[in-house]
Amino acid sequence: MNETKKVIFELSRPGRVAYSLPKGDVPQTDIGAKLPEHLLRKKAAELPEISELQLMRHYTNLSQDNFGVENGFYPLGSCTMKYNPKINEVTARLDGFANIHPYQPIETVQGALQLMHELQEDLAVITGMDGISLQPAAGAHGEWTGLMMVRAFHEKRGDLKRKKVFVPDSAHGTNPASAHIAGFEVVSIPSTEEGLVDLDALRVAVDDETAALMLTNPNTLGLFERDIAQIAEIVHDAGGLLYYDGANLNAILSKTTPGTMGFDIVHLNLHKTFSTPHGGGGPGAGPVGVKAFLKEFLPVPRVDKQADGSYVLNSDYPDTIGQVKGYYGNFGVLVRAYTYIRTMGPVGLRKVSESAVLHANYLRKRLEADFETPYQVICKHEFVLSGNRQKKLGVRTLDMAKRLLDFGFYAPTVYFPLIVEEALMIEPTETENKEMLDEFADALIAISREAEETPETVTQAPHNTSVRRLDEVRAARQIKVKF
Ligand SMILES: *Cc1c(COP(=O)(O)O)cnc(C)c1O
Repeated sequence: MNETKKVIFELSRPGRVAYSLPKGDVPQTDIGAKLPEHLLRKKAAELPEISELQLMRHYTNLSQDNFGVENGFYPLGSCTMKYNPKINEVTARLDGFANIHPYQPIETVQGALQLMHELQEDLAVITGMDGISLQPAAGAHGEWTGLMMVRAFHEKRGDLKRKKVFVPDSAHGTNPASAHIAGFEVVSIPSTEEGLVDLDALRVAVDDETAALMLTNPNTLGLFERDIAQIAEIVHDAGGLLYYDGANLNAILSKTTPGTMGFDIVHLNLHKTFSTPHGGGGPGAGPVGVKAFLKEFLPVPRVDKQADGSYVLNSDYPDTIGQVKGYYGNFGVLVRAYTYIRTMGPVGLRKVSESAVLHANYLRKRLEADFETPYQVICKHEFVLSGNRQKKLGVRTLDMAKRLLDFGFYAPTVYFPLIVEEALMIEPTETENKEMLDEFADALIAISREAEETPETVTQAPHNTSVRRLDEVRAARQIKVKF
């Protein structure tokens, strides 16, 4: 193994340090005397002892083994891996945002509260909702929060038999999971040949036990549910609520809103649509929005503006579902999303969606001769191909995804949505240029040729990455996460 690739513990030599700290000014004996005996360390912690240079190389090398939107194209469908403008980081690092404490006196954090209040108002306009809570930590958390409000709404009316939440069979896995955790029975609604909600099946399914329908629009196939007004009518006539999964909002910014489409509750994924870094597992932010008749159920505390222009954290809402997260949300993510919205403005946001949709359709057309395209219609910001043709030659979608890494691209989402066999779900986003889209299309087409001519090149891939193909079954079953 190369010296620079050694595990950090193997580089350790007694006495090497990567820090220089001033001498402590609290006598050791005092610290010892104030802590209970059983909490005192008996022997020194086993930490690697290395120099600052070694430490820097260790982290730089780790970062280079990684793939992110900042070193290459990342067309991971449904995840909206757009470029995250660096100005977002500048604002999030401002002293008055980065170095405040949730227990500070309220009059000393007025600027932070103003930002949250204005972000709530911006998101209300963008979604066509009347009230917003910024608390949930991610999209899935927003779904659960929204469904708890669905429950509170029906229960307050004494309508206790509404136990069913409907989700289309193309839905993201978090939708049925959130509904289940919120105590509902999940009922799947089939899609038509065209990839849209089957209206007849929905009409038959709804009844007086219907609590809500959860929908993504455009849906996970990248297709706009053009019958959304009828869908809303069917659900509302049955006494249910309409829930909008906002993960695909990037397709409709400043074009239309979930509120206009008839939705009652939405969640947003600020880390997807509003350009805050994600992919390493967080933090994210999943604000929820509701129409006026549901505002009373929103989580507390709420950021309210008083008559004198000052801001308060208000928990005085008797019908609230309560607090869903410690403190007030992932504040740093909120600052980044606010910065993005304010730098783009309404016209900029419209261009985001128009470009995202244009890019997806351009790629779709470039690839349709070489891959099975189950839905040959104009898509929104993403589209789904099938690797069925290549599968007949012994090359699976997973193999093509690995081979793309050799070409310097992150792989699209694979095997989702579940209703498309050998699915490849591609979301190019608005932030790539035409040359990059062409390079990616050329790579996928070249891989499809390889599947015909030299399939083992694809089935053995990746060849050029720092780690070759993993034994994924073993990696999942015998997971080892410490040194
Ligand atoms: C990402 C995503 C979610 C879940 O959001 P998280 O922020 O990852 O919790 C839900 N639905 C769809 C369609 C998604 O793409």
